Amino acid sequence: MSEAAAGSLDDTLVAQVLAGDRRALAKSITLLESTRAADRARGDALLGAILPHSGYAIRVGISGVPGVGKSTLIETLGLQLIAQGHKVAVLAVDPSSTLSGGSILGDKTRMERLSAEAAAFIRPSPSSGTLGGVAEKTREAMLVCEAAGFDVVLVETVGVGQSESAVSGMTDLFLLLQLPNAGDDLQAIKRGVMELADLVVVNKSDLDPAAAARAIAQIESGLRKPLPVFAASALHGQGFERIWVEVQRLVTERRESGEFEARRRTQALAWMWDIVHARLMAGFHEHPGVQAALPAMLREVGEGRLPAGAAARRLLQEYDRRGER
Ligand code: GDP
Repeated sequence: MSEAAAGSLDDTLVAQVLAGDRRALAKSITLLESTRAADRARGDALLGAILPHSGYAIRVGISGVPGVGKSTLIETLGLQLIAQGHKVAVLAVDPSSTLSGGSILGDKTRMERLSAEAAAFIRPSPSSGTLGGVAEKTREAMLVCEAAGFDVVLVETVGVGQSESAVSGMTDLFLLLQLPNAGDDLQAIKRGVMELADLVVVNKSDLDPAAAARAIAQIESGLRKPLPVFAASALHGQGFERIWVEVQRLVTERRESGEFEARRRTQALAWMWDIVHARLMAGFHEHPGVQAALPAMLREVGEGRLPAGAAARRLLQEYDRRGER
């Protein structure tokens, strides 16, 4: 296909996305997830065209260990928001899908009722590349969803490793789900993660309300800054009104203080640098001189025979020899 033909094709695609066409939305995300160079160029052009129409949604990150009730909560919350007239997109950042090829998040079968709704759009996690790569694709998908008129974007991730900070870095608010029987080793008092949270919901409180109350007290006592911490039952729909009330309260508060826009600006800059770093690293690893020198450097630094700094300079020298071949 000629470039001009691809261009007019994508004009149509952009128009369809802006009109809220869900098939065009899915197709655009697939284009953005493609690693082919030609698709990347089309994807960048598409993003440029939709960018002025994005940014209007409330972006909420949702995390918690597998089984805590994320998909049950998203389904219940999503249906409630749709009943109020919102359009809800559900995206995911699933690091396990990049490691094993298998996904533990975002498959439609987990949210059958929500995925049947015309005002919902559910997209599983992109499943190739590094966590950074997956997060980048999810961020781009988020922009396209917003351009298609989705005014609430829920980004789900599992409570493992670095993915929470990736999701917190692309959302306005971060909701952490906890289990009531957390005991002393509260799952997310893995410090760093608790620090990202704006809201903590102790789910499955129907199973043992007393344990849920204890978990709330324990979480509150471990917090460095006061946050809303409360009990809910995703299964029975209890505590749900409060989630959205708190989200809206926080959004209003931060819009008024300027924190909301400041966070978005910081995120946009961090995103730009992430992409620059990722592309530079990819170029570095693809460089034949680097590839030739790397095994010996890894070995010698690993065995303590060469200082790390010297090895790094040697590799960078190889990389700098780009144009000289
Ligand atoms: P996820 O892995 O975090 O997405 O968890 P799911 O939403 O798939 O929930 C795991 C299991 O817990 C399912 O069998 C749900 O029906 C159940 N579950 C979710 N929320 C609640 C709740 O509030 N109370 C009870 N009793 N069970 C729940």
